Amino acid sequence: MRHLDEYRDPLLARALLEETAAVATRPWRLMEVCGGQTHTLVRQGIDELLPAGMRMIHGPGCPVCVTPLEVLDRALAIAARPGTVLTSFGDILRVPGTQGDLLTQRARGADVRVVYSPMDAVEIARREPEREVVFLAVGFETTAPANAMAVLHAEHLGLDNFSMLVSHVLVPPAMTTLLESPDCEVQAFLAAGHVCAVMGWTAYEPIAARYKVPIVITGFEPLDLLEGILMAVRQLERGRAEVENQYARAVRRTGNTDAQNAVRRVFEITDQVWRGLGPLPNSGLRLAGDFARYDAALRHEVGTLRTIEHPDCIAGAVLTGSRLPTHCPAYGSSCTPRTPLGAPMVSAEGTCAAFHAAGRQALATNPGSPA
Ligand code: SF4
Repeated sequence: MRHLDEYRDPLLARALLEETAAVATRPWRLMEVCGGQTHTLVRQGIDELLPAGMRMIHGPGCPVCVTPLEVLDRALAIAARPGTVLTSFGDILRVPGTQGDLLTQRARGADVRVVYSPMDAVEIARREPEREVVFLAVGFETTAPANAMAVLHAEHLGLDNFSMLVSHVLVPPAMTTLLESPDCEVQAFLAAGHVCAVMGWTAYEPIAARYKVPIVITGFEPLDLLEGILMAVRQLERGRAEVENQYARAVRRTGNTDAQNAVRRVFEITDQVWRGLGPLPNSGLRLAGDFARYDAALRHEVGTLRTIEHPDCIAGAVLTGSRLPTHCPAYGSSCTPRTPLGAPMVSAEGTCAAFHAAGRQALATNPGSPA
């Protein structure tokens, strides 16, 4: 297939669904890790067309959603400092912290700017040397290389007014945490193609072997996902647990080694708190010692923060797949994309936003029900 619409061919989609139904003898539970994949599954209704009983569990693969509240509150406190420019992508600026979001902070007079790349933030620092420019850097393995390059560029320019508030997360530790949960229902994963385009899939091989769970690297178009689901179901039916690559047009086993080298140079692996999952060992990135002077958390001390989650938001349960957005009492009423109470309703990759965009209705049933 060469053109985008070929990855959305309804006849091929129907054939893949029929083949999956023919192969499946049990109601398997699969998790798509990536929020971009969640949006395609929900928007196209694929999750509702699967064979009877088979279920997609929506995973914690939204970078904005898993960013801890403490990081958002720290960004709010830094943005409030005179002479500071707080920069990041549009989504994260709308995520509520304990006392409003960063765009609200801008309305109160703070200098908060949307940028389209971390290099834009470096450029602001170069043009405005009298300002302290902070880039709020969140995301998975996909965004880490660009952030690493921005730090290297700031160093190359000799800028001493640029820093990063880093909240980077890594996918494999989150997968093992989910698999080790006593409540885990996941029997196979669809892994995010763009993450693997950077990191390859060698890190997944020990997970597949140890937990006996198939992992299929999958793209983002409807036929990618349908094919990935079929590949995972075939493995489950045959008792196999391997890493397979549905997204061969973009992913190699070893990934992008240039990108990996830039990340390794600038960042080091650290323990990381995930919103919804809590603290996970070795699941994040922080600036390495040589680059600690670019660490906004060190450079802009803000004192003790008192973070308070919104009491109505069940985002943690949504992020771990134990509840659907439609189980949330606030879904579609007090929480909408215009009035979000939590990150999953804000982010372009958030599960609540995906359900809302697809017009899924809030359930009036027992919130403990899994589907
Ligand atoms: S619908 Fe809103 S309040 Fe409910 S879990 Fe999602 S983001 Fe939180």
